[in-house]
Amino acid sequence: MNTSQLPPREAMEFDTVIVGAGPAGLAAAIRLKQLAPAKTVVVVEKGSEVGAHILSGAVIDPIGLDRLIPEWRGEQTPIKTPVKADRFYVLGSSGGLRLPTALMPPLMSNHGNFIVSLGDVCRYLGRKAEALGVEIYPGFAAVEVLFENDAVAGIATGDMGLAKDGHHKAGFAPGMELRGKYTLFAEGARGSLSKVLIQRFGLNRDREPQKFGIGLKELWQVAPDKHRSGLVQHTLGWPLDNRTGGGSFLYHFDDNLVAVGFVVHLNYRNPYLSPFEEFQRFKTHPLIRDTFDGGKRICYGARAITEGGWQSVPKLVFPGGALIGCAAGFVNVPRIKGSHNAMLSGILAAEHVAAALAEGRGNDELSSYERSWRSSPIGHDLWRVRNAKPLWSTFGTWGGVALGTLDMWTNTLGFSLFGTRKHGKPDFATLEPAAKCRPIAYPKPDGRLTFDRSSSVYLSNTNHEEDQPVHLLVRDSALQRSSEHDVYGGPSARYCPAAVYEWVEEAGQPRYVINAQNCVHCKTCDIKDPNQNITWVPPEGGGGPNYPNM
Ligand SMILES: Cc1cc2nc3c(=O)[nH]c(=O)nc-3n(C[C@H](O)[C@H](O)[C@H](O)COP(=O)(O)OP(=O)(O)OC[C@H]3O[C@@H](n4cnc5c(N)ncnc54)[C@H](O)[C@@H]3O)c2cc1C
Ligand code: SF4
Repeated sequence: MNTSQLPPREAMEFDTVIVGAGPAGLAAAIRLKQLAPAKTVVVVEKGSEVGAHILSGAVIDPIGLDRLIPEWRGEQTPIKTPVKADRFYVLGSSGGLRLPTALMPPLMSNHGNFIVSLGDVCRYLGRKAEALGVEIYPGFAAVEVLFENDAVAGIATGDMGLAKDGHHKAGFAPGMELRGKYTLFAEGARGSLSKVLIQRFGLNRDREPQKFGIGLKELWQVAPDKHRSGLVQHTLGWPLDNRTGGGSFLYHFDDNLVAVGFVVHLNYRNPYLSPFEEFQRFKTHPLIRDTFDGGKRICYGARAITEGGWQSVPKLVFPGGALIGCAAGFVNVPRIKGSHNAMLSGILAAEHVAAALAEGRGNDELSSYERSWRSSPIGHDLWRVRNAKPLWSTFGTWGGVALGTLDMWTNTLGFSLFGTRKHGKPDFATLEPAAKCRPIAYPKPDGRLTFDRSSSVYLSNTNHEEDQPVHLLVRDSALQRSSEHDVYGGPSARYCPAAVYEWVEEAGQPRYVINAQNCVHCKTCDIKDPNQNITWVPPEGGGGPNYPNM
């Protein structure tokens, strides 16, 4: 059947459409229904179920949850492990220096926080939202923004049953239009539609570039004698060199579970660096490896995290909608926390949407939301740490972290010696040509503590319909060869945590292979490709990882 013979897409009308069922989207949906029960709210989620695509640490600051659901502490929730101990180490290759907690500014304390699976917290929030009457459509990706008179009028979900060559397979179902008076984009870090909106409405004009890290995580069931319920441990340093930002987290929670993860800042320069291999190597450190002795790795995944903070948050509003959560980039980098601000921004935006709907407005700009966030708890949280990331990027780990800590202390007292520093180049522009860099020899995995990427992706339960258009769009394949491969040595084969990209030799020529079905939707290629030549677009709804509790 050709497209002209198809019936028009089905359209449904709502008061508010929300893209993404993460903490931001679900908090917004719940708040809207609390304030205006008669108004209709729909949430679309590309994961096969709520929580399936959520990957986080996670130690959560409950400030957002307390505001949204004040009674949550008396309910059955997946939030069971309060933080009991907080340790911070700087690692060298064979030992580590434990930093006294007293050196850290109070804002870094995890007292009163909880260790959770953020995916499970989202499942809990999803149930809350549905009980209030929110319609949630998991397994549907929003692939297109609908515009009317240059205002956002909703989104369209992707077609289901489209073959790789464009023909309609049996059971083909066209996407749906979900139209709304307001549309909130809660897609998380590097949202694909949020990126389109930022460009179209120039939302990042006069802002610093957004910065990112890639976070890799494994979930382990450890031997009971290795489990220290409520222990939170962070490290800096080894195996990364002083010029490469990043660090690890290790959280002991629930029944003998340990979440271990590693973040590498995506402004790294050496194209030979592999964040995945750095993570594997980190686990072999003498201070770390013992935790996993006798344990079993049960899940793996990866996701980009926003790191630009205060100076990179784009304008949040445009006619007909707004950005919330990490689609805007509200992560507090030194605290490695964004879920509380994601929820707070969802709540804040919902309050402004509810007020506008009550006045009979629609499809206009929610300017009051934009005006309010910097003086809200989100702004307060981000302002005090605004120089931590740029100081780290400029002065390296040792100097930058020391200066960043000093700056967080002085900001706690109400002033800064550094003003508001700039981030400099966007992450795609920081790679150096391979010829100027040292190749890195990574040790082989042992299959017990360290692993390869294929067996890791297997543990992410990633699944995509195989016969569908590739969702990783390479704009110019000649450029990919002449620059990504010839100049930069093919960094995509190393930064992708799911072994999606490979350069293979065929008749003496390099050929770019894209194993799209492995993609865990971390968005790193969209961020780090040195020519911005790769665009991530949502595959068919329901595809991607199926994280049980990440
Ligand atoms: C490794 C790592 C560790 C972290 N540790 C912590 C921590 O310890 N504590 C903390 O507070 N924060 C932590 N964070 C940050 C935290 O996870 C984020 O700030 C938070 O998840 C942002 O919430 P969000 O709702 O904005 O986006 P997300 O949680 O990313 O949710 C977005 C949702 O939208 C869906 N979606 C996206 N695009 C579309 C589309 N086009 N159509 C339909 N659905 C779509 C996604 O599938 C997803 O379910 C960590 C992040 C990472 C990566
Ligand atoms: S293809 Fe891109 S989005 Fe998918 S896992 Fe690899 S780097 Fe992440």
